[in-house]
Amino acid sequence: KIRVRYAPSPTGHLHIGNARTALFNYLFARHNNGTFVLRIEDTDTKRNVKDGEKSQMDNLEWLGIDWDEGPDKPGEYGPYRQSERRDIYEPLIQELIDKDLAYESYMTEDELSAQRDEQRANGEAPRYIYEYEGMTADQIKASKEAAKAKGLKPVIRLRVPHDHLYEWDDIVKGKVSFQSDTIGGDFVIAKRDGMPTYNFAVVVDDHMMKITHVLRGDDHVANTPKQLAVYDAFGWEAPVFGHMSLIINTATGKKLSKRDETILQFIEQYRSLGYLPNAMFNFITLLGWSPVGESEIFTKKQFIKMFDPKRLSKSPASFDNKKLEWVNNQYVKAGNADQITSLAIEQLIKADRLPKNPSKEKIEWARQLTNLYKQQMSYAAEMIDLSSVFFNEPESLDEDSLNEMQQETAPVVLKKFTQKIKELPVFDAFNIQSVIMQIQKETGIRGRKLYMPIRIATTREMHGPDLSPSIELIGREKVLAHLDKTFA
Ligand code: GLU
Repeated sequence: KIRVRYAPSPTGHLHIGNARTALFNYLFARHNNGTFVLRIEDTDTKRNVKDGEKSQMDNLEWLGIDWDEGPDKPGEYGPYRQSERRDIYEPLIQELIDKDLAYESYMTEDELSAQRDEQRANGEAPRYIYEYEGMTADQIKASKEAAKAKGLKPVIRLRVPHDHLYEWDDIVKGKVSFQSDTIGGDFVIAKRDGMPTYNFAVVVDDHMMKITHVLRGDDHVANTPKQLAVYDAFGWEAPVFGHMSLIINTATGKKLSKRDETILQFIEQYRSLGYLPNAMFNFITLLGWSPVGESEIFTKKQFIKMFDPKRLSKSPASFDNKKLEWVNNQYVKAGNADQITSLAIEQLIKADRLPKNPSKEKIEWARQLTNLYKQQMSYAAEMIDLSSVFFNEPESLDEDSLNEMQQETAPVVLKKFTQKIKELPVFDAFNIQSVIMQIQKETGIRGRKLYMPIRIATTREMHGPDLSPSIELIGREKVLAHLDKTFA
């Protein structure tokens, strides 16, 4: 039975790259009726941020990704937070020490960095060099005792065999191999405070949690040989690995990095712009994975049904913001009107365009407003710019608009328009359109000469959505105020 996991370190919000890792594991589990585990890798206490875990979980839930076991969903293999598993790791570390597969290392951080500097200066790859080289067992013992007496605390290092080939069949990359002498020497499995390192804890947990497949980012490839060394030390069987290609920002052509400010990279940011969760889910699934055929818009159910890790791409995935907007727009157009409306209302409230607790009438008004823009709106926050004509004050007329109003037919059209809409029994798009048609009949003025002055006078802009429904939504009172100002 397939068991996979998403194992975030709670060092920040949910990043697009991590969301993708979570999503592929989720799809793989669901496709195979397997189990999806959420494990919090919080042993690097200095890097943990407050609410990091909560933010990860909230945003996964928002995306529609649920897990079967996790900190909030106890299962057979808990606890699911590494910081709560120290009593599992400690005896295992001791076991390796007892078998002489691992040892206490007392070199200080200063000594280690001096060693690396020297190696770099000599053009060598920085690595740890065995500090007890050439010593007898007694000398080693004495050396450790002397260090201990000085109050030094050791790290624990795993013995990495010389001249050994670490090799695996990667689901994504195919055969990958690392020569053991190239991975930096005996590496640390427990820090000076006794906390296990990532490369150790991850192996213990994946083994104990019976994880069958590890799907993760390409940035972990170099960790895999180290993890294989830990599997070997315990004599455990390693899971199947798959390292997903990195993500490139299409706009810059560079690898997505948290420092890249040209693109939003956290799920939270898209959320606060009013993106739709199922659109994000859809878009992220296409980052480095492709379905058979040309279509790109699918439901979660369809993705689960189709998901085949063999279709994970070897080449980098391209994060194209324009495409994300396109995908979201597909969902906005086809989406549930109430959902889109409430996202739009949220944005309008944020921009102070609507009161915090809009009345029923205001909500209905916002629903119609949203409807006007549903076709062209990529995401809800665009409503703020798109709908500015509905919030313009009578003052604002730019130069182009003023020029347009110089047409001698303009005052004729506007006088009639003002008079007629004052008299309308019901101020709605249908009646407003009839008024415009009447003016055309009565004056013979048509096309741009007819519509442009009305549009400019009533909306204070030369462009906008369908005119009659716009005028209806601006409302008679405000439209008359605008018209008034135009003649003044
Ligand atoms: N905690 C690691 C990370 O956030 C997980 C890596 C792994 O999946 O093994 O990158």
